[in-house]
Amino acid sequence: MKFNVLGLFLLLSAAILAPALPAHAAEKKGACDGIPVVENRILPSERESEQKKEATEETEAPAYHKLYPDLYVTPAADHDPVDSKVIYLTFDDGPFAMTDSYLELLGKHGVTATFFVIGRNDAASRARMKRIAGAGHTLAPHSYTHDYGKVYASVDDFLHDFKKISDLVYSITGQKPAIFRFPGGSVNIYNKKVCRLIIDEMLRRGYTYYDWSISAADTAKNATAATTEENVLRKLDRTAHKIVLMHEGKKHTLSALDSLIKTLKEGGYTFAGITAKTKPVCLPLPAK
Ligand SMILES: [Zn+2]
Repeated sequence: MKFNVLGLFLLLSAAILAPALPAHAAEKKGACDGIPVVENRILPSERESEQKKEATEETEAPAYHKLYPDLYVTPAADHDPVDSKVIYLTFDDGPFAMTDSYLELLGKHGVTATFFVIGRNDAASRARMKRIAGAGHTLAPHSYTHDYGKVYASVDDFLHDFKKISDLVYSITGQKPAIFRFPGGSVNIYNKKVCRLIIDEMLRRGYTYYDWSISAADTAKNATAATTEENVLRKLDRTAHKIVLMHEGKKHTLSALDSLIKTLKEGGYTFAGITAKTKPVCLPLPAK
């Protein structure tokens, strides 16, 4: 009986104290589940040391600033003015075997585009990347693994991945890439918690990232050549800076391209690959 009364007292005390406790104290409670945690409070000495730690952390640079000292570039001093008659076609997620057909089609029309590539490091993929760059297109990093869970686990993890894809592109072009596209775009459902930190870090290192202003939505479940073409044409008039998101390795995208390029040319548009001088298009950041 005596034990039960004591137990009840402890439980009530914990229940009364719990809502007022800071988050990390609540974590301690989670670590000893099932036990009424009367010690679940922060001692004055503990709080003081925590406050000191936080204050130091605020003034000190994050450790990831020291990762990969060679992963710095000089951004363009200024950007070219936006020309609403220029279209920047971009193809993500390659190279694939189908890359050759994309290159053939673009070559036939004399169109220059941008390929944001992933970490395919076999001889055939490297040869395709060489052909992309050799044909005058922009070859730029997208992601090595394109595994959102890994890439966006932390700023460090993002840098590990970026270093690998940056090195791969460098080994193909002989030039250090200074522009890139985030996997899934700069702001997506996988990176909301870390996107600001990652963006800040990449900008601090001099890199410029490009999202898109027009999506062909060619990875949508029911995408066809017709929807791919329509999605681009529909948004043309209301978009001044035309960076078009498309993907590699898709038959319907390839089919759409021939007709799309013809239509765009008839409309007086020209095409260009993105360079560091191209004004970026960035998705809005989530609210803080
Ligand atoms: Zn992608």
